[in-house]
Amino acid sequence: MKTHTSRNPADGSLLAELVPTTPDQVIQAFDRARAAQRAWGALPLSARAKTLLQLREVIIQHTDEIVELITQENGKPYFEALANEVIPSVDMLTFFAKKAPYALRDTNLPLSIMKHRQSTLNYWPLGVVTIISPWNYPWLLPLGEIMMALVAGNAVIFKPSEITPLIGLKIQAMCDLAGFPTHLLQTLLGDGILGSQIIAQRPNKIFFTGSVATGKIIMAQAAEYLIPVNLELGGKDPIIVLADADLDFATSATLWGGYTNAGQMCASVERVLVHESIVQPFTTLLSKKTALLRQGPSHSRSNDLGPITLEKQKKIYDSQLQEAKAAGITICAGGQFSEDRRFLQPTLLAGKALETLSVYQEETFGPVLPITTFRSIPEAIEKANNNRYGLLASVITRDLALGEQIARQIQAGSVLINEVCYTAGLGETPWGGLKDSGIGRSHSLEGLKDFVNIRHIHKPRAPWLTFKSLWWFPYTDIQYRTFRLFLELYRCSWLKKLAAFPHFLSAAIRLIKNDKRL
Ligand code: NAD
Repeated sequence: MKTHTSRNPADGSLLAELVPTTPDQVIQAFDRARAAQRAWGALPLSARAKTLLQLREVIIQHTDEIVELITQENGKPYFEALANEVIPSVDMLTFFAKKAPYALRDTNLPLSIMKHRQSTLNYWPLGVVTIISPWNYPWLLPLGEIMMALVAGNAVIFKPSEITPLIGLKIQAMCDLAGFPTHLLQTLLGDGILGSQIIAQRPNKIFFTGSVATGKIIMAQAAEYLIPVNLELGGKDPIIVLADADLDFATSATLWGGYTNAGQMCASVERVLVHESIVQPFTTLLSKKTALLRQGPSHSRSNDLGPITLEKQKKIYDSQLQEAKAAGITICAGGQFSEDRRFLQPTLLAGKALETLSVYQEETFGPVLPITTFRSIPEAIEKANNNRYGLLASVITRDLALGEQIARQIQAGSVLINEVCYTAGLGETPWGGLKDSGIGRSHSLEGLKDFVNIRHIHKPRAPWLTFKSLWWFPYTDIQYRTFRLFLELYRCSWLKKLAAFPHFLSAAIRLIKNDKRL
């Protein structure tokens, strides 16, 4: 039987050989998921939320082995596996366990005219949802969506990236230990072909995180069956450093924003826009700090950057760096692969010509930071927005009011003032982008609503308030006149409203008195 391998990107060592899921198993998985979902979706929200807290407990008990596995299979440093994957997932479980019962409770809508009737929003599960995820945050990204899907009452068919299947299986094992019903979450292993076979089973919704190219393929396939999709795609996130910024703070923020997870993050800083008055000292200090970063294999506990996880990314770095070199761009730091080509040094590029190059325009998804300048705030905003992505942006300034004024003009899903990247790991705040960065939101109570159907229930406030509506058949002259006068009550001028009211009232009384409605 054909197997699929999982390898440590730091040294290429074999971690496991796995048997991919077969097409027949995909069909069976959906049948089981639909059966499991019926019982789970009928449970009260509080019971589902309680299971999230059990999962939280299981994760905390198994943290060390989870961190070890993330480090081995994805390559990121231990600290990042703990601080940027496991801890945010535990925090998110706490948030959704606490808030989902409140956010998904029935909500009454105030009605302005139809006072005798009541409208209620009732949130109910979508059914079986599919979560397809990438390799760069292989624990936090899928688990964040899995917990929202499950607490909302859905079953989940989860396809982790073929690069990090063991971490996917670990999520499954932790959920099993936490006591989620059998087959409520099922992890299927394979590549894009399996992803396509999963979609062909018509899940009730697809939550996809990955590249723009794959997102478009998934959306096209989903369109065949009219399956709704949430797409969390790429980014080319700018950081705007204003002239008043503290240089030490601004360079440290840029350093972490650009190089955490070796830059393999959709929310990475990938364009550095610095006011021209401070660009020289900024670049000098950032170069010094970049040179101090320690890069090394995943078994070392004292590395800041790990290896490049995905082989095919290296071609992108090669081509972007070659183009930059040919254009005469200054390499202020890094720029070289290790001898075995498993590591790319954190790389800092500077030069005006950068702005037309692919390293500045297209997603790099690696430890490469291009620095460019601006003269005025409108120019900074224009440059920040002049890109096909719109995921996240940062502004660094001592003037928070000005920072917020700029933030309100940036075309991005999130704008952080004096911070970088990290809100991708917050449960409370929405995550998602616009333009080529995708469709929909996850995380937050807004994002949670993407995991449910909304049912609107409309009823009389009491049985005796059940009567035929004035707009029912048959249509009559007096009915038309009453409704025409009713429209006058929407006039801006109070005088006109008041003038129309008695005419409307007498017409309405006449209409009701002569009621011949069928
Ligand atoms: P990718 O698109 O190559 O793969 C993502 C997932 O899609 C994998 O599980 C893959 O097997 C699956 N897939 C591939 N082809 C498919 C198909 N035809 N049908 C169904 N599934 C298919 O992306 P990647 O290399 O794993 O991840 C890197 C990309 O993800 C970057 O562009 C990055 O910006 C983006 N990303 C975005 C976010 C976000 O929140 N916006 C977060 C992380 C990563």
